[in-house]
Amino acid sequence: MYNVQQISYMGTYSIPEVCQMISRSERTVRQMIANGLATIDDKRPTLIRGTNLIDFLLNENDKNRCPIEFHQFYCLHCRQARIPKGKVIWFSREHPTLPNMCGICPVCGCKMHKVYKIADISRLKREFRLTESPCISHSLDSSLNCRVDDGDNCATSCNQEFMKFEEKGDTNANEN
Ligand SMILES: [Zn+2]
Repeated sequence: MYNVQQISYMGTYSIPEVCQMISRSERTVRQMIANGLATIDDKRPTLIRGTNLIDFLLNENDKNRCPIEFHQFYCLHCRQARIPKGKVIWFSREHPTLPNMCGICPVCGCKMHKVYKIADISRLKREFRLTESPCISHSLDSSLNCRVDDGDNCATSCNQEFMKFEEKGDTNANEN
């Protein structure tokens, strides 16, 4: 559980400051960013608003109370585990080094994020319908109009992304 007592809603924090306040490593904080913790755009070093940090951590605390199954994502808005609408997910290109997947909450229409392990990729391919990331704009504009029927081109492009991860996974295995 995260303690948010030291964090001010009005504050702005660097990653090392966040690490200190929540007693977690920089790696953990970067993982939170990959999982959807908002940062202030275009600022170097990376800065995080207190309000975003508190919301994120409280949601993490909720999540720890509410276990999430493989095919479920956590909706930050509903604060519930949800199966992405239409079982459609796509690659977040914001964090291209991780299999960081996005889907749409079937209840409120918000975008949900979840980072999977490279080992999960073949199961993801079986359990979800993969689509292309530009679908994000459809989804956000008209919340639930994510066009699942857009055809195989989308799925193909996403599968190529997955293959990159599979190649990387193999490389790591060889190194070990
Ligand atoms: Zn929701």
